Amino acid sequence: MKTVLITGANRGLGLEFCRQYTRDDWRVIATCRHPDIANDLNSLARQYANLQVHALDVADFSQIDALSQLLVNESIDVLINNAGIYADQQGCGVGQLDYQAWEKSFLINTLAAVKMAETFLPQLQKSKQKLIVSISSLMGSMADNASGGSLSYRSSKAALNAAMKSLSIELCRDLVGVLILHPGWVKTDMGGKNASITVEESVSGMRQQIEIFNLQKTGRFLNYEGAQLPW
Ligand code: NDP
Repeated sequence: MKTVLITGANRGLGLEFCRQYTRDDWRVIATCRHPDIANDLNSLARQYANLQVHALDVADFSQIDALSQLLVNESIDVLINNAGIYADQQGCGVGQLDYQAWEKSFLINTLAAVKMAETFLPQLQKSKQKLIVSISSLMGSMADNASGGSLSYRSSKAALNAAMKSLSIELCRDLVGVLILHPGWVKTDMGGKNASITVEESVSGMRQQIEIFNLQKTGRFLNYEGAQLPW
């Protein structure tokens, strides 16, 4: 039985990862900021014994350290850095930029993903699959940026990509893989109702990329359908 650890598992793409992996008999370690009010996740946990829920605010690195200590004997096949925020206010361009929100975006979208990878490396190394997956965004691509705006989101995801690419090179020695995935434009609280695909489609596609991953593909930036994306 394989084990996956997912951040931001209470709604959106994180919750759908939990649904699909539990249904397919993986051991799922679901983490979210407030398990006490994570109703959908808790009802899933009541149905499936292979799903466990832990509190984790990824912006609080002491919580990441404490969870890693609690799970010190686990082997984790796949770590999914899914938690993320979009903190740019609509219409707030130059002259109205919110630097505090920008710092928060960097903390959650970039630094926390690296901290998770670093802290859970021993558990990943114990596993068979040894894969770190970071949910990024095509909005982090500089080559694709034709419309501008969203400075904090775009730059925090571009930085996530750069950091994960470097980790992929460093960790290859230990046979630990790194995959950077764009989920598509997905109907979630973040993606909105007009988004083009459902969480089911996006997560099925991303799971397929995870399943067919091998170390030759480490450090790649792919969309949910497996197409390679420009940096
Ligand atoms: P949602 O806004 O629907 O969900 C975001 C999740 O991240 C929530 O579970 C939220 O928890 C969690 N989260 C936010 N901050 C923290 C934190 N400090 N600690 C732990 N969890 C946190 O977004 P999506 O499901 O759409 O997005 C998931 C990922 O996919 C993100 O990284 C996003 O950037 C990326 N993405 C999404 C796209 C889309 O179209 N939907 C497109 C491209 C990328 P809480 O409920 O507690 O706030």
